[in-house]
Parts: sequence; structure tokens; C-alpha cells
Amino acid sequence: MIKRAHVSFVGAGPGDPELITLKGLKRIREADAVIHDRLIPREVLDEAPAGAEIIDVGKAPGRACPGQGHINWLIVEAARRHRRVVRLKGGDPGIFGRLAEEIEAVRAAGIPFEIVPGVTAATAAAARAGISLTERGTASMVVMATGTGRTGAPTEALDWGFLARVEGTLAIYMPVASLDAITSALTALGRDPREPALMVEAAGSPDERVIAGRLGEIADRAREAGLRSPALFISGPTVAAASVPLAMRRALVTAG
Ligand code: SAH
Repeated sequence: MIKRAHVSFVGAGPGDPELITLKGLKRIREADAVIHDRLIPREVLDEAPAGAEIIDVGKAPGRACPGQGHINWLIVEAARRHRRVVRLKGGDPGIFGRLAEEIEAVRAAGIPFEIVPGVTAATAAAARAGISLTERGTASMVVMATGTGRTGAPTEALDWGFLARVEGTLAIYMPVASLDAITSALTALGRDPREPALMVEAAGSPDERVIAGRLGEIADRAREAGLRSPALFISGPTVAAASVPLAMRRALVTAG
């Protein structure tokens, strides 16, 4: 019998080990090999069978991380040696996770695959801050954007004029390095500097911190607090209702 290999691209969620789907967990428990990113909770990795091959392709301080081309190769190569390969990615695999490139590699090798979605940082961060990302009448859209382009600078591929005009919620991933440039561009192009804004660091993990403020000042507040990646920027009318769950109160730096 020919055993056909199969790759499952599984979303691990934002860092809280309980925020993975049952299907994702099932795939991990049945995996012959798990290829995972950084920031995947230990508890989730521990669900893999004792004999499974675990390959860490995440960036870690002081250690070179494999390039995307090498990761693509590793996935295909694992599928040649194993039957059930899980490619475990943070959040949702299809949101700023270079999933398209990995799918392309798997497809080119003729390997069947599936995608098991995960809780993305925007919904996890909103949940922790106690806000809805949409609201009837005031926020009819949510725009997920990346604050970091290929070069590491605020992405030039984005239409900042459009983002400034969005009547709804902005959720910007990878905002930390260019938060000043992001908020300046938005306000210079017409977004109200008094709009409520949040930065949520490490949502769902024990290191979680939430910084609340106004669009015009959130970059200063984040800097003062020494906020670091992974963090998500959210602004829009629904952010005004941000409440801080009890567990987070100690971590709240300031409420605008
Ligand atoms: N696929 C992931 C995103 C990968 S890009 C997802 O769906 O969430 C990495 C960026 O996601 C980080 O720089 C940060 O902006 C955001 N992010 C990931 N996990 C996060 C978390 N726990 N809290 C806040 N932001 C997070």
C-alpha cells in the first residue's frame, strides 16, 4: 500500500494554549512531524506524539533562522519521509504568515494539503481588551494591514490615504518598529488624532500588556512603556469601549 503524505497547515492561535481549535489539536496529536514557528506555546507542542519529529524553524535570539525557501523545502522534505506532517503557525496561518509561499511549494511537489484556521492576533487582542472589532453603524469594516514591509520600514505597498479614511477599525500587525511613522501618516492624511487606540503586546500570554491612548499619542506611550513585539495596533470607534479584564488590570499602563 502506498502511504500518501499529507500536510496540515494549522493555526496555533495567539499564544494562549487554549486558543487552538479541536481540529488543530487533533492534527498535532496524530502528527508524524511538526514544523513550527517561534512563540508556539510549549503546552501545544507537548501534545505531539512522543515519537514525532519536531522541527523548530522560528527565529530565536542568537540563532540563525532558516529562510523561507529553506522552510518550504523542509515541509516538502518532511512529507517525503512522513505521512502526517503538521506545519504549525502562530495565530491564523493565512494572516501575514507567508502561507501562500508554503502552499505553492507543497502544491508544486504534488502533496495534498489542508488548512486548519486559527485565532488571529486581531481577534485575540480585541477579546483581551473587551472590544468588538465591528459595530453596527460606526464600524462596518475591519482592515488588517501589516506595518512592516519587505524592507522593515512601514510598508509602501499600503494606501495610507485609504487607511486614514476607513470608517471602521484598523488592526495593524507588526507595528512596533514603525509606530511613529504609522500614526503620523494616518493623522497627516486626515484620521482624527483623538481617535481611541490600543497597543496589545503578547495578547493571551502571561506577558500580556495593553496600552490605551489616542491615535496621536499612542506611539509615545508605547515607547515610554518599552512595548515590544509581538504587539498589535488597533484603532477605531469601538476601541473607546475598551475595558480591562481583571487579570489585565495590573498590566495596564494607562487608559486614554
Ligand atoms: N499569523 C499571525 C500573524 C503573524 S505576523 C496571526 O494570525 O496572528 C506576526 C505579528 O502578529 C506580530 O508582529 C504581531 O503584530 C502579531 N501578533 C502575533 N501574535 C500576537 C499576540 N499574541 N499579541 C499581539 N500581537 C500578536
